[in-house]
Amino acid sequence: MHSLILSADVGGTNMRTALLNVKGEVLKGLKRPSMAHKGREALIKRLVQMFQDTLREGGADIRKIRGIGVGFPGPLDTERGIVFNPPNLKGWEEVHLRDILEQEMGRPVVLENDANAAALGEYWKGAGKGTRSLVCLTLGTGVGGGVVLEGRVWHGAKGIAGEIGHMTLVKNGRRCGCGNRGCLETYGSASGIITTMKGLLERHHIKPKEAITLERMGKWARAGDSLTRRAIRETGVNLGVGIANVANLLNPEMIVLSGGVTNLGGYLFGPLREEVKKRALPKAVEGLKIVRAELGDNAGVIGAARALLLTVAQGRNG
Ligand SMILES: [Zn+2]
Repeated sequence: MHSLILSADVGGTNMRTALLNVKGEVLKGLKRPSMAHKGREALIKRLVQMFQDTLREGGADIRKIRGIGVGFPGPLDTERGIVFNPPNLKGWEEVHLRDILEQEMGRPVVLENDANAAALGEYWKGAGKGTRSLVCLTLGTGVGGGVVLEGRVWHGAKGIAGEIGHMTLVKNGRRCGCGNRGCLETYGSASGIITTMKGLLERHHIKPKEAITLERMGKWARAGDSLTRRAIRETGVNLGVGIANVANLLNPEMIVLSGGVTNLGGYLFGPLREEVKKRALPKAVEGLKIVRAELGDNAGVIGAARALLLTVAQGRNG
């Protein structure tokens, strides 16, 4: 019986692997630095080694493994298992990662975009358990997004669906890494909120005594600093505008927010929820839940395992 799943969540900084059962319970997990600067082959080798170590430490045999789900930074062709030059990984031009890993491991492999994997994880075992549709936004270095409709990730025609971070929010706004201006990401990410804070300080001719970080902003807000609270409120409003658009477009049951920015708690969520209510069509916000993610760093590996189950059940790899 193939009663177990291996999965991975690969990022520019860290890689995670996990051994799970088909119920999505993590039996063994590993985390190691990706060392992406050492190049593509080195990373793949380290990943294969991690799979083997996860099996060994979890006391499992590869013959028990139904398959391997891998969450990987996009853009990807999930159907053909190809990675196309992710911005934070150098030297990955059109890598047939699925085929390479299948050859190395001898089991079926499924690739899923990392943000989609996180959304699928939250849908299956996290905040979204029991819902039929959700949209997940990861507010970290950038703003990642994933759309799950009726239990499945919506990939779109070319795998781009869910790139909520690159929704235009301000017509001639801040320049974004994608080449556009005014993307949600430039306002709602960790660096976006710090830029907003710096702008407010400048306008008030205040020189910060220490470097501005998210953690410090959380501390200052709790201590009652009005400018910090204002920067967080503006960020919440901007995210609320974006989420109102998402609510009108897809009418999901739930919006799940994850990533470091959500640690700002009520200072962020209060204005954000208010703005969504103000802007979205009444029926789109009726019963709409806007919540924090529950799985933390495990969302990716759990979602990648789910992607494997969905694909293998469909019979692509048998
Ligand atoms: Zn952009």
